[in-house]
Amino acid sequence: MRLPILTYHAGNVAGPGYADNDHRALAEDLAMFSRLGWRVVPLAWVTEQLAGQAKRDLSRCLVLTCDDGTDLDFRDVDYPGQGRQRGFLGCLQDAAGSQQPDLHMSVFVIADPKARARMDRECLHGLDWMREDWWASAVGSGLMAIECHSWDHNHPVMPGPGPEAMPRGDFSEVNSPARAAFEIDQAVDYLNARLAPSRCRFFAYPYGQANPFLVTRYLPGEGARLGLSAALGVQGEPVTLASDPWHLPRYVCGWHWRSPEALAAILADCERG
Ligand SMILES: [Zn+2]
Repeated sequence: MRLPILTYHAGNVAGPGYADNDHRALAEDLAMFSRLGWRVVPLAWVTEQLAGQAKRDLSRCLVLTCDDGTDLDFRDVDYPGQGRQRGFLGCLQDAAGSQQPDLHMSVFVIADPKARARMDRECLHGLDWMREDWWASAVGSGLMAIECHSWDHNHPVMPGPGPEAMPRGDFSEVNSPARAAFEIDQAVDYLNARLAPSRCRFFAYPYGQANPFLVTRYLPGEGARLGLSAALGVQGEPVTLASDPWHLPRYVCGWHWRSPEALAAILADCERG
């Protein structure tokens, strides 16, 4: 197995073109997957394969994820200066059909409502685009799952340090049980309370910043208690049967590839392995 997990950010809307608009990129990529015979499958299929709980044929399969949990994951918006943007869910609905019977995207959201409100004001346009009222509907669509992208991303816009004087702006600072409980446990609890009877099962490291404490100690020890079965980074390589479930690699749109041709090359490389 050499399976690519791809990551998009719905907040990336700097222009109309593929390289600076993740909505345009996702729509084009979905069309390409069907054209080239690649099948989008749920992330859970990959972790079940890694855990030996399933033996599906995952050749020419890939997984879709998106990070940060803006409303643009779910609904169409009029983006200031950039016009109407199709939400990621709409892009999936447009691509759904017989060639993509298992179409799915794992949506990694930030839990803390105060942190989201602050990011909406300081990093977006102050249009209340980091709400949570769409989470249950996203899950109900059958095309998305809501997953955990930490309590507050340890984001630099947060006022003051985190637990144990944790410096902001770097998730590798989450290097103690108290800091991990603040960023991960409390986020999982918050999300599960809003998603019930559904639950989140996966964690994505903010900025892709995993560290040895989280990967080799905290999540292997506490993941089962939290109901988590994997954590995802951004190493830019395919998942293989040797991948560490607490640090699964992903490719990021706009970073690891910036054109349909570059993504096609990544897919070809995964298939060659
Ligand atoms: Zn993020």
